[in-house]
Amino acid sequence: HAKRNGRNHALRYCPSQDRRSRPALGLLNDLRSALANGGQLELYYQPQYRMRDNAMTGLEALLRWRHPQEGLILPADFIPLAECHGLMASLGNWVIDQTLAQMANWRDRGRLEVPVWINISALQLFQGDVEAALQAGLTRHRLDARWLGLELTESALLDERAGDISPRLEALRERGHPVALDDFGTGYSSLGYLTRLPLDKLKLDRTFVEALPGDRANAAIVSAVLAMARGLSLAVVAEGVETPAQRDFLREAGCDEVQGFLYAPPLVAADI
Ligand code: C2E
Ligand code: MG
Ligand code: MG
Ligand code: MG
Repeated sequence: HAKRNGRNHALRYCPSQDRRSRPALGLLNDLRSALANGGQLELYYQPQYRMRDNAMTGLEALLRWRHPQEGLILPADFIPLAECHGLMASLGNWVIDQTLAQMANWRDRGRLEVPVWINISALQLFQGDVEAALQAGLTRHRLDARWLGLELTESALLDERAGDISPRLEALRERGHPVALDDFGTGYSSLGYLTRLPLDKLKLDRTFVEALPGDRANAAIVSAVLAMARGLSLAVVAEGVETPAQRDFLREAGCDEVQGFLYAPPLVAADI
């Protein structure tokens, strides 16, 4: 049922077909073979830090595509293509397996010390079987779910095509996965769902952090979000922290964790 709906609605994820030019179709074929052969897809890992003591608290896995002709391609330039053409489930499964393989490697060397977070797209939730992929991967790599955090965006969580997502999310969380709401503040404005969804963290979107501390309206929004999160016992991770002034504002306002170029960019596993 979900699959059938997914297929019908998948077109809505396609950016205007007329503007999908030949180069994009070439890229689509390249992505298909990259997925089939492996090798060109890579994961980078960006550290997250606790403001209180600067301890590293987590790593976010971020997908990259090393295209033989085009060079390094960022997710914004190929994830929409994958979503539009039904490749997101297999791309997502690759991310799950690759992340767990890297974590098992760190574990075997006594270096797995913080949870690794992966991004889960709305399409994975209703076109793929994320639960099965996660379970199979955890078993194969002998890892506990508490080490693998899941980042979902508001639009993924509230996408009606996935049905009521909260029971599935609850099940994933009961298995031990930490769950974060990504890009918080950019999606739906109803805050009621924050009390209904099982969440551990909010990730405050970079657009709010960007304008800190000079822009008073943004500063007010950030302070209010932090106060609200405290009331709901949700930790907040600020995304895209680039300057000491942004860091200082966030610390003062009671933000728990930070992630951004000021601290560390996304890095290859060897550099972690
Ligand atoms: P996101 O999950 O919100 O990830 C944070 C993005 O902000 C990353 O971009 C990261 O490189 C970038 N970033 C981190 N610190 C800074 C900073 O200080 N300044 C600026 N300007 N940017 C910063 P990236 O890697 O290009 O990923 C973009 C988006 O693509 C991600 O946003 C996520 O929604 C999606 N994405 C990435 N990897 C995956 C994946 O494996 N699966 C899925 N479904 N989506 C992914
Ligand atoms: Mg994310
Ligand atoms: Mg984000
Ligand atoms: Mg973001």
